[in-house]
Amino acid sequence: MSASRPLHVLIAGGGLSGLALAHGLLKDGLTCEVFERDADLSRKTGYMLHMNAFGGEALRRCLPADLFELYLDTSRKPPERGESIVLTDQLDELSAQPHLGPPNEGERRHTGVHRKTLRQILLSRLGDSFRPGAAVVSYSETADGVRVQLADGSTAEGDVLVGADGIRSAVRAQRLPEVRVVDAGIRGLGLYGRTILTPELLEQIPTLLLQGVIIAADTKGARVLLGAFQPRQPVAAAAAATAPDVRLDPVEDYLMVSCSVPPGTVIPPAAEWTAETPAMVRDAMLEAIDGWHPALRAIVAGLDLPSIFGIPFGHVEPGAVWAPSRVTVIGDAAHAMLPTLGMGANLALNDARMLLDRLSAVSRGEAELVPAIGAFEEQMRELVYPFIEMTMQHDRQFGGGALASRGAQETTV
Ligand SMILES: Cc1cc2nc3c(=O)[nH]c(=O)nc-3n(C[C@H](O)[C@H](O)[C@H](O)COP(=O)(O)OP(=O)(O)OC[C@H]3O[C@@H](n4cnc5c(N)ncnc54)[C@H](O)[C@@H]3O)c2cc1C
Repeated sequence: MSASRPLHVLIAGGGLSGLALAHGLLKDGLTCEVFERDADLSRKTGYMLHMNAFGGEALRRCLPADLFELYLDTSRKPPERGESIVLTDQLDELSAQPHLGPPNEGERRHTGVHRKTLRQILLSRLGDSFRPGAAVVSYSETADGVRVQLADGSTAEGDVLVGADGIRSAVRAQRLPEVRVVDAGIRGLGLYGRTILTPELLEQIPTLLLQGVIIAADTKGARVLLGAFQPRQPVAAAAAATAPDVRLDPVEDYLMVSCSVPPGTVIPPAAEWTAETPAMVRDAMLEAIDGWHPALRAIVAGLDLPSIFGIPFGHVEPGAVWAPSRVTVIGDAAHAMLPTLGMGANLALNDARMLLDRLSAVSRGEAELVPAIGAFEEQMRELVYPFIEMTMQHDRQFGGGALASRGAQETTV
């Protein structure tokens, strides 16, 4: 066995997996630096995250006890049913099935979290280990470590480099250049927003729409996806009670909404959105669901306009098994998948947990570094790759274009 020595871990990307890993490493007595490209952390990336035990147990392992409590306090009150429920456009129930992945069980079941709240919890207490506005451009392996090159021309050195830099990962592009990102094409463009659950709206909608994740579809191919976020405790107040040093923005109860637009509707790329675009998108959504049940129309009509955004979907097409080195990838960088089954963040957090266990064992002198990384990568591939395929099949069932795009629009990044 190797001599015990705390590793210094470089992490590219301060998203969910990179930040969770950083907390775990600090908790276990290792050191790390997280390089996050964005200086402004307010970019819209989604609203409610459905959580299962992959993500929940990873957070329990990685976070300090009080921050994990805060996560529980701010997570969604478990709905009575808590399933994926498929409805017609008139709200007749067609089917229901449990969410994919192992459920979070126990007294305080946690089934969903507001993404920004989770990120704010994860961003707390990292001190100098978190470096916003620092994009990783490339890396080189040295005799006994790794050096990363940052966009501002500076470099940093460590024992290990973890690419947690998302679907367009710079680390993966260099480490596994053969791995392809497949864009899902226009039909895979997700339009998201949220509708605040005001008392007036609550009076208009059946409680079924607050249970689990709702997918309503008509025979013409239009669909609406809903996810209610009603936290156990008001988010900002929970922080004041459980971890007063953590600042959480208040969050009103809401329904996350994703809705189709009529075929042929032109949605401009994010950089070209003007002040009028969100209203245009909402109106197109209402056109797509013309004649639908009034409760669903009221939800879409009530969308908070500034909350609307579009996100092009894609997935990583796994390549051949690779030999391990000091440089590895986790989360979307390793295995981005379509978001429709609510698995990506859970599996990204789980990667952070599995890698943490391996790196901590190395630091304790119980394992050699490169074989330990190889063991993590094998575990990850075995667990995660089947879910990429499942999300593709699910997308096809609900009229998405991802499977068709697989042959037509492969891109290497
Ligand atoms: C609309 C939507 C809804 C979703 N819903 C769910 C859900 O309900 N449940 C679920 O489990 N998953 C869900 N997902 C998937 C989930 O969001 C992702 O799988 C998850 O965020 C991946 O985490 P990550 O840490 O790997 O990457 P990310 O969260 O993408 O973080 C990557 C980070 O790296 C940074 N970065 C990028 N390039 C560089 C660079 N060169 N240098 C430094 N930093 C860099 C980025 O700025 C970012 O902060 C959803 C996704 C979308 C789009």
